[in-house]
Amino acid sequence: MKKEQELQISQLRQKISEARNSFLGYPVSKDFDYSELNDFLEFPINNLGDPFNASTYRVQTHEMEREVVSFFAKLFRANPSDYWGYVTNGGSESNLYGLYLARELFPKGMVYYSESTHYSVRKNIHLLNIPSIAIRSQENGEIDYEDFENTVRMNRHMPVICLANFGTTMTEAKDDVSKIKSILKKLAIHDHYIHVDGALAGSFGSFIEPKIPFDFKDGADSLSISGHKFIGSPIPCGVIVSKKSNTDRISKGISYIGSLDTTITGSRNGHSPLFMWYAIQKLGIDGMRARYQHSLEVAEYCEKRILDLGIQAWRNPQAITVVFPKVSKEVKAKWQLATESDYSHVICMPNVTKQQIDEFITDLERYPTDPHSDSDWD
Ligand SMILES: *Cc1c(COP(=O)(O)O)cnc(C)c1O
Repeated sequence: MKKEQELQISQLRQKISEARNSFLGYPVSKDFDYSELNDFLEFPINNLGDPFNASTYRVQTHEMEREVVSFFAKLFRANPSDYWGYVTNGGSESNLYGLYLARELFPKGMVYYSESTHYSVRKNIHLLNIPSIAIRSQENGEIDYEDFENTVRMNRHMPVICLANFGTTMTEAKDDVSKIKSILKKLAIHDHYIHVDGALAGSFGSFIEPKIPFDFKDGADSLSISGHKFIGSPIPCGVIVSKKSNTDRISKGISYIGSLDTTITGSRNGHSPLFMWYAIQKLGIDGMRARYQHSLEVAEYCEKRILDLGIQAWRNPQAITVVFPKVSKEVKAKWQLATESDYSHVICMPNVTKQQIDEFITDLERYPTDPHSDSDWD
């Protein structure tokens, strides 16, 4: 390569590496090491087709992909003989699949989601052209169950497709799936589907104590997570787990690939399933639980340190996200904090340490919030 481009590459590397080091505002783990898998970059791996169906194209990692899906199906207490899923390009695609499946099962359904729902869900609903209603959120970001109940009652002639959040983007609020389920029961809504968006918190939901209902046993029909968030991956990815009996009802065989066209995209990257597989093998359930416990401890510490400065920080129960009023431009820029309306957050991902929190606190003291600053450029 020419000198000029070599320089460009090394500058990019430097820039990315610096940006990675002060990063507290987005739910992305950075503490992974997949170097053992480096050689796999030599292969044009493509997981096209259904991972649970043999296909003609054999440069693939379907076996690992199936193991990843099985791992999460078990973690989410899916029926061992009735689950399906695949590794997606991210939580957004996982949610799109969940909503697509719901719409195919209930073409006359109405989608309900809280106003704290991730922005990509509205786009998904638009793409699928399903009627929908946004439900009020409580102060903490959790769905307002009363508003949900009243709204469903007014539309009770239509099947209910509920998109529940298990960890909203800004406050990591968790909608209680068994409460949602009991509301549907109370209203005698027979045709219903609950998809749970667990982008960040779905991966550690099973380790939360006391338990917050969110999984298949609690009433979910499908569940999605992002792979690059809690687990961490160099390439964004996600996982969707559904019920096989539901997926079977909508799958079509395609002779060109000798497989079933069950996935949203055709060609699918086969490296991500390999990374996910590697991570869960290395961590195991105990490693994942320890990762969550570390995050929780750092979050408790972070909340306390901010409160000690006299700033009103708070967290949802057992959350690793600390919420506080929006901070100065300097702090926001340095730590890459997301801001929405009047607040910001720090997400204590597994790689975040107490030392980093201390450094962040020093900056909070050094650059106090300017109450008149505007956030138009957010
Ligand atoms: C991040 C996020 C998504 C989208 O996931 P991607 O992996 O970025 O596509 C969806 N829902 C919630 C709650 C999220 O936090």
